[in-house]
Amino acid sequence: MRPFPHKTWTERTMVRPSIPTPDTSDDQPASGATVQEAVGTVRLALDLAATAPTLAALYEEAVASLAATFDAARVIVFERDSEHTLRLAHDSAPTERGARDAERRALEVLVASALGAGRLATSSTDRDGQRVAWDVPSMPVDAAAALIPGPITPYGVIAVASRPGRAIDADGVVLLDGYAGALAFGIDRLRAADALETADAALRGAFDDAHIPMALTRLDGHLRRVNSACANMLGYSTDELYGMNIQNIVHQDDRSITADSSAALARGDIPLVEIECRMILRSGGTIRALVRMSLLGDPAGRPFGYLAQFMDLPDARPVDADPWSYGQDFRAMVESMPDIIARFDRDMRYVYVNPAIEQLTGIPRAAFIGRTHAELDLPETFAEQWRAHLANVLAEEREITAEVAYSSTPVDRTFLVRLTPEPGPTGEVETVLAVARDITDRRALAERLQFQALHDALTGLPNRTLMLDRLQHALARSRRHRQPVALLFLDLDNFKTVNDTLGHAAGDKLLVQVARRLERSVRSEDTVARFGGDEFAVLLPHIANAGSALEVAERIAQAISQPFEIGHNEAFVTTSIGVALSESPDDYVDELLHRADSAMYRAKSTTKNRFELYDAAMQAEASGRLQRVSDLRAATERNDFLLLYQPVIDLTTGRVAGVEALVRWRHPERGIVAPVEFMTLAEETSLIIPLGYWAIDAAARQERQWQAGSPGDSPVPVSVNLSARQFRHPGLVAEVRRTLDATGLNPALLSLEVAEQVVMTDSAVAATTLDSLKALGVGLCIDDFGTGSSSLRHLRRLPVDAIKIDRECLREIDRNADQAAITAAIIAMAKALGLRTIAEGVETPAQVARLRELGSDEAQGYVFSHPLPAEEITRLRDAHQG
Ligand code: C2E
Ligand code: MG
Ligand code: MG
Repeated sequence: MRPFPHKTWTERTMVRPSIPTPDTSDDQPASGATVQEAVGTVRLALDLAATAPTLAALYEEAVASLAATFDAARVIVFERDSEHTLRLAHDSAPTERGARDAERRALEVLVASALGAGRLATSSTDRDGQRVAWDVPSMPVDAAAALIPGPITPYGVIAVASRPGRAIDADGVVLLDGYAGALAFGIDRLRAADALETADAALRGAFDDAHIPMALTRLDGHLRRVNSACANMLGYSTDELYGMNIQNIVHQDDRSITADSSAALARGDIPLVEIECRMILRSGGTIRALVRMSLLGDPAGRPFGYLAQFMDLPDARPVDADPWSYGQDFRAMVESMPDIIARFDRDMRYVYVNPAIEQLTGIPRAAFIGRTHAELDLPETFAEQWRAHLANVLAEEREITAEVAYSSTPVDRTFLVRLTPEPGPTGEVETVLAVARDITDRRALAERLQFQALHDALTGLPNRTLMLDRLQHALARSRRHRQPVALLFLDLDNFKTVNDTLGHAAGDKLLVQVARRLERSVRSEDTVARFGGDEFAVLLPHIANAGSALEVAERIAQAISQPFEIGHNEAFVTTSIGVALSESPDDYVDELLHRADSAMYRAKSTTKNRFELYDAAMQAEASGRLQRVSDLRAATERNDFLLLYQPVIDLTTGRVAGVEALVRWRHPERGIVAPVEFMTLAEETSLIIPLGYWAIDAAARQERQWQAGSPGDSPVPVSVNLSARQFRHPGLVAEVRRTLDATGLNPALLSLEVAEQVVMTDSAVAATTLDSLKALGVGLCIDDFGTGSSSLRHLRRLPVDAIKIDRECLREIDRNADQAAITAAIIAMAKALGLRTIAEGVETPAQVARLRELGSDEAQGYVFSHPLPAEEITRLRDAHQG
């Protein structure tokens, strides 16, 4: 029953859902919850429902927590059935009349019927208040419940009044629905535990209207509740009798016997007494009555009063008659109950059963009478559970509550059964009264909510929360058995490509297939979880050593590398896996997570291995990385960078055709640091975004300065590199435009370089971005060409001006016929598409000669010049032009 056993009630009361509430600006939804947060809130609600000690506490906490979740002006829980209709309100709104009116006008009210059935009705009002149907604080319970459509009988209503100008959005409604479902679960639990409470509401009306005169007294004999039959019998009104002591209406001579009997009841000597005594009427006369008295106790067994039933004897019915048979309305009520109500004799035979049993079993109820469960054609476990529980009640002579399952295809229901022993006149148990309530739906809802809170909706795999819980248990066990636990972290390497090229629906399908393959790659006791996005984790709770963990990793990598069939497409993905083993008895969850994560990170950055085992060296690297990140961040804030410019030479004229801006980090200790040392880190931490914009801006300014310095000369455009992340950054186009505006630079003098792999990864998206950049008038160049796998078809669609042939393609161009052929093909293709070709990383005159032969337009490389500071470029240009 307790879904989250690790929390206690007291701990829980201190926890509030952590859903961020929006700020107070207008038209904000009143819940800004992400799915995960919503699940967290429902989880807390379930937790609350499972642990609240009393109904009052449950409501009070629920109201406070709903108020916090929705940042509500007012939350009210109307409960329908409690003795004093409970109306709890969290009222944080101003109360004076004017303010309240204003608030009312903007009320959005949600009514959740789900307190009863997990269903929700919404009654929202217009902003102008036209449809505000009631004054929330004084709305009668039945009126509120009447707003709930459908044939359900709710426990009550939750009303959440938002603040003026806020609306409760669709997510909020779902959240509220889940919350109400959880509350219903809690109410059921508490009611099942509280037998009196359950009977209370149903019986109160029957008590008041019953034909049998009945009275409830306190232990001291004061009348607390008297029905009208009793008042009529005595000639009083019910009000007059209220508060009188029962002894005052018992004939003087009979007072001692009633006093003795009640004392015996209170001591627990006997469960029930029947005494004959004379009652004094209001008129002063007396009647003879048979009084049947029993002790009333609370669920904890503490007695709090007596129930007295009277039969006036002149009217004479046999003493042993069953009082139930007198009350036709009792009978009618019991017969129409959806609960199964039955009475059994000491031999466990049915003495009575209401029609509800027919609906469940399809057996006419007459067939039940006089039979035991075993003698009826009932599902075996159902019959056996009943037998065991009945035997238990008869042996122990105390009430029990238990769950009983009825399953016979297609019916599969769960009942909460309360069995009450009924003593006869001698005090011995003669019969057992059973009330069985169908709790299947409630249970299913509770289970579903719990499942959702702990599983990933897409793949059905355990989520992070559940995984961490299992990891914790596994670690505890491994401490006892001194056997390591292994944790694998997985990240798909090119999931984004699939998502971007085939669409999100395909991406989802791929993730589901990956989940299934992962499950198939491990044993049943291992846990596969999805941590979000394309991240998965695998827990191997029993593993011999690192070698076997790596074997599993290998198997997984293998499984994932097989092609995936998605619709009519085939998709290929690979995965990087970090493997970590618990090393010492006192390894904790966080540590293992951290290690698996850094190992995964390492697997990702080295292309050699698809998986990597965490080791001490990695530890050092991890902390070193942390230091480097913080250094780089500081450098970005201080702009500790400079640009060098490498000339690009026109191979026909030998002139400088352009320059490429290349960034350097001016490190306080290490001096000038090249991009290889920090680009990956900048890319991973997103620091490339500010750094990259700085570079574009600085290069544009420099170019403008060169222009201003020698206005007459033929201009030498500057090119700047864009990383993958920059290229995908949504602010890119605007930023480039801003730079052009700010510097006043002729856009034709600025060129942007994007690596072939980046362009081809997102080819559709890339084309759009390139189009927008092209529209600004800047030049575009595909960098590192020859390293990726561009198709001609794609290239044609892209609005680029030039390609830069990667250094790797040219290294042996003067000696290697294959390389020369490839380069020749690239150049020919570029020419066909009207693109300029630039050979990069050219180091020898032989390479230059060969490139000329192959017809490359331009080249850059150490053979001409290393990247140079801006001033040297200025000097070079001056020399050149002059
Ligand atoms: P890239 O755009 O392909 O730049 C060419 C790289 O080759 C530069 O390295 C350059 O110094 C080097 N290089 C030039 N000639 C030769 C040669 O003859 N032999 C050899 N071995 N290398 C040569 P660098 O400056 O270290 O830059 C490396 C990469 O860092 C660049 O590759 C570019 O992708 C990136 N990068 C540099 N500056 C920036 C920038 O401002 N923004 C962005 N996003 N990336 C940049
Ligand atoms: Mg470049
Ligand atoms: Mg390059």
